[in-house]
Amino acid sequence: MSWLTEFVRPKIRTLLGRKEAPDNLWHQCPKCQQMIFHRELEAGKKVCPHCGHHMRATATDRLLWTFDDGNFTRIDLPRPVQDPLKFRDQKRYADRLKEARDNTRQEDAILVAHGTIGGARAVVAAMTFDFMGGSMGAAVGDGLVAAARLAVLQAAPLVVYTASGGARMQEGAISLMQMPRSIIATQMVKEAGLPFIVVLTDPTTGGVTASFAMLGDVQIAEPNALIGFAGARVIEQTVREKLPEGFQRAEYLLAHGIIDMVVKRGELTATLARLIAFMTANRRAA
Ligand SMILES: [Zn+2]
Repeated sequence: MSWLTEFVRPKIRTLLGRKEAPDNLWHQCPKCQQMIFHRELEAGKKVCPHCGHHMRATATDRLLWTFDDGNFTRIDLPRPVQDPLKFRDQKRYADRLKEARDNTRQEDAILVAHGTIGGARAVVAAMTFDFMGGSMGAAVGDGLVAAARLAVLQAAPLVVYTASGGARMQEGAISLMQMPRSIIATQMVKEAGLPFIVVLTDPTTGGVTASFAMLGDVQIAEPNALIGFAGARVIEQTVREKLPEGFQRAEYLLAHGIIDMVVKRGELTATLARLIAFMTANRRAA
């Protein structure tokens, strides 16, 4: 260690340190690497102003952005049995849950709320990818059932924002049971003659894609969102073929008729309002 590293460098660091902005003031776009001022990013609904990249959003963001004036009422969701299998991999599932709850300030990966969209009553369920990869365990299943029941009770459309890696591995078969369960939940909404709209956000994969997420009356996706069942690498290894450019991205799915529209985040709320007004027009006239 020389005088330079021991004395001068720390001195410079303290001098510079004072001028450095706190980390949370700036955010780097993962796509174009540009720095974005935190407040600007929030105002732009977490879309990069330089390249238009749609960053991941939380369930709370979705609720705030979707309902008129950001006004909504969240409903309490049932609390299923915690860690039913007493599961442990590198960490105990109970510890993973606690960590996710501390980080996201959510009980589980889904939030449900009601309010109005474009003046019409609506129920919205939104998933947070940051909560254990948005995985679907009993709590997410319960959330979807509660959202569907609320929609039927209020005679309101159901909008679901998906963001999920699939099944909650730590709940084994109980997690898989949420696939038919979530389908039955959305079926209740359809049988009541109410619109069910799905907004697929980046990423939506696995058991969520294989169940309720693909059953909307209207399937919307955000630009460039990854939507699929198995990962591209697994498919490539299985079919031993190179997959086409843009495979499993929202625009590719739109071009191949899997989804109905790709809507930029900034236009999403207006699109939902228009769809809801259109899809409930007959109901209101009746
Ligand atoms: Zn960018």
